[in-house]
Amino acid sequence: MAGKLPETIIARFAPSPTGSLHVGGARTALYNWALARQRGGRFILRIEDTDVRRSTPEATRGILRDLAWLGIDWDEGPDADAADPHDLATQRGGRGPYFQSQRQTLYREHLQKLIDTGRAYKCFKTPAELDAQRRQARTEGRPEKYDPTESLNLSREQIAALEAEGRPYVYRFRMPDTDITIADLVLGEVTIRAEELEDFIIFKSSEAGGGPTFHFANVVDDAAMGVTLVLRAQEHLMNTPRHAALFDALDLARPAWAHVPLIFNPDGSKMSKRDKAKAVRAAAKKRLDAEPARGPGPAALAEAAGQPTARVEAFIRGESDDLDTAVALAGCVEVKLPEIDVADFRASGYLPQVLCNYLALLGWNPGGDVERFDTAFIIEHFGIERIGRSNARFDRDKLFRFNADTIAAMAFEPFRDALRAHFEAYRPQLLAKLDGNRFDLFARAYHPRSRTLDEPAELARFLFIEDEQVQYDPKAVAKVLRRNDGEGLSVLRRLEAALSGCDDWSSAALEACVAAFAKEHGLGMGKVAQPLRVAVTGTTVSPGIGDTLELLGRESTLTRLRHCQSACAQPA
Ligand code: GLU
Repeated sequence: MAGKLPETIIARFAPSPTGSLHVGGARTALYNWALARQRGGRFILRIEDTDVRRSTPEATRGILRDLAWLGIDWDEGPDADAADPHDLATQRGGRGPYFQSQRQTLYREHLQKLIDTGRAYKCFKTPAELDAQRRQARTEGRPEKYDPTESLNLSREQIAALEAEGRPYVYRFRMPDTDITIADLVLGEVTIRAEELEDFIIFKSSEAGGGPTFHFANVVDDAAMGVTLVLRAQEHLMNTPRHAALFDALDLARPAWAHVPLIFNPDGSKMSKRDKAKAVRAAAKKRLDAEPARGPGPAALAEAAGQPTARVEAFIRGESDDLDTAVALAGCVEVKLPEIDVADFRASGYLPQVLCNYLALLGWNPGGDVERFDTAFIIEHFGIERIGRSNARFDRDKLFRFNADTIAAMAFEPFRDALRAHFEAYRPQLLAKLDGNRFDLFARAYHPRSRTLDEPAELARFLFIEDEQVQYDPKAVAKVLRRNDGEGLSVLRRLEAALSGCDDWSSAALEACVAAFAKEHGLGMGKVAQPLRVAVTGTTVSPGIGDTLELLGRESTLTRLRHCQSACAQPA
């Protein structure tokens, strides 16, 4: 390991609001946050919206929401609860604003410094000219990198003439002619040789919206915000020599860098938003190959998905990974989109503390056999020295097991509250059907059966459908209702009377009523409860029979009992 953590930790998370918060981004935020909290430092959230075309306020809002959900809070930055997080009055901290789009003056001032010291210059080269330059270099066997000679040799008059013509230009940074060494806290010393360095753009042309590029704004802000630690994913390592050179040229102190390993899928591919498109494409192809005879193929699929045929065809050919198309098709080809972003895991019913626990392990090894811990543990024990260098693998099954075990170990109240919060956010229509105490009963009944907060919604489907919509599982009907000359069906007939006489429709009373009925008829409890369960749920699986009936209510129970007898009667 090269170097130590700075004495004072001023860390930051600097997402670009061009999409939702990826788990990799969340892990970066978590590591930075943990170090700042552990060392009594500060944690800044800065929104890097220099790419005006791809940045959206919705993405910003989503990132703030997802971080807050994970329990990662920040000392400086936009307010997650503000009606408009861009509003300067709502941003917290003395080094704001915290949106790069609001810091343009600062970037111009720093650009001017570089111009004054001869480290930034105008480049009028068009993309076609740059391309020709590269090709020429290739034919001559030279490295294909930007050749600054012409731009640097332009006289004042030539520059003025080009500007008068209205030729667009960018500002490039004059890289040093020497090797650059960076001290990385995870990777050690990394040296990039002078030949590999090239002058790069720090200010975009007016055609591209003007303003600083990511590299420039990133460095200027880290310096202006007093950032002492830049911990980020290894994909940024190749940018770091540029950043180091910018810090040096601006006479600003370099921060400490720590580049953490990337997150890969178990199959070795990079875990990316494209995985959703990949999963849907594979399922769509399988569907189309399986039924060549049926309908006009992609056109039918496109129609079912409500998407233009050309778009769906391009998607299936792999020419586009458009997320909206993927989502629209996913429903038609019955594939569950893989979770990639924090919001996906949240929607699937993962607990924030479990996700933090699992993310902490992707690249960091707490030592010993410790694998399950809370965020307090992360804050206490997280350390750069135990971050690995090799890529991490995202194991969904393991995360799922963590979630299941955590739910199983939860006390009832916190589980109920988490379940309610999940239903409020993702299943409001179902929640509306669980009035008053019924939600508590529902939570109690499903707590032992849930491995995610979303599973109860699926497991309890029978509760949320109309009485006539119950689908009877043919196997259950054959085994539980019709076998032995319709033994189960005849139990149902007699039960109807017993249950309609039951005044107290509470779980305990209903359980007692069913038990008394079984005893009276000399039947085992299962011989009564199972037919009843099939009648009201369509399947042989549901919570205890008392809970099942109380949740369903008297009217629905009796209606379903009658309906089942006619729908599942023995064939003549
Ligand atoms: N905006 C950059 C990103 O989202 C931040 C890189 C950094 O942390 O310096 O990848």
